[in-house]
Amino acid sequence: MFSDNKIIIEAIIKNRFHLVNYICATGKGMKKKKVRHLQIDIITVLPKLIESPFSHSIVKRAMDKKLVKVNIINLRDYASNKYKHVDDYLYGGGAGMVMMIEPIAKCINKLKSKRDYDEVIYMSPDGELFNQKMANKLSLSKNLIILCGHYKGVDERVREYFITKEISIGDYVLSGGELPAAVVCDAVIRLLPGVISDETSALTDSFQDGLLSPPAYTRPADYKGMKVPDILLSGNTKQVEGWRNEKSEERTTKRRPKLLG
Ligand code: SAH
Repeated sequence: MFSDNKIIIEAIIKNRFHLVNYICATGKGMKKKKVRHLQIDIITVLPKLIESPFSHSIVKRAMDKKLVKVNIINLRDYASNKYKHVDDYLYGGGAGMVMMIEPIAKCINKLKSKRDYDEVIYMSPDGELFNQKMANKLSLSKNLIILCGHYKGVDERVREYFITKEISIGDYVLSGGELPAAVVCDAVIRLLPGVISDETSALTDSFQDGLLSPPAYTRPADYKGMKVPDILLSGNTKQVEGWRNEKSEERTTKRRPKLLG
């Protein structure tokens, strides 16, 4: 965890993770601007499935700039049998296969022998529901492991003895943990200081301050009679800011009243 600055620690205690990232991004309140690197090790049986989300756009840029390192690890490389099996039948009977503890334990132990991890995450539909606050918190990590499940999931002993955090991306069941892992990684990586060129941009996204984003418009100002609100064309930044705040609150009240507490 990146926590060698008093202001940052205070912000962490107050759960103001977006502030922490802002401080890290701008160097404000810090003696020296620090560049943080996050390493994410993703354990999967389908490495190809998860490559694409890391090969484009903001996430790729973050990797190119070396602000994040993502290792995709093929769990089959840790299988002990010659058929590279990593799953087996359910004890007690029933349909579906379960991912075995042995290769997972081998893989996690090997990773842990090289560095300390902030969290060993298992993507799971019954985990804690993922949200922006969790993304902010995870973005302060140094090293993360993300285990993607498949089939009926992993042997319960993996969850009991190796996993420190379980994350769900919603109350529905997908075929594997790869897409959920990519969702979590994307949300976390875009928050790392220096990833988005205008750092404050990620901080003004929905949920960052408990509010949804206001409506956004671009050219043309008039499309077949559908007009952009005049105030946005006025050039009066104070009024524009006021309008945006008002719309953010309006939208949050209407769509996510719970965010307002
Ligand atoms: N039998 C399990 C579902 C297994 S789905 C159950 O009923 O809970 C197979 C794998 O997909 C899981 O191990 C998990 O890694 C991943 N997965 C499926 N849905 C998910 C979700 N909503 N959030 C996070 N991971 C999910």
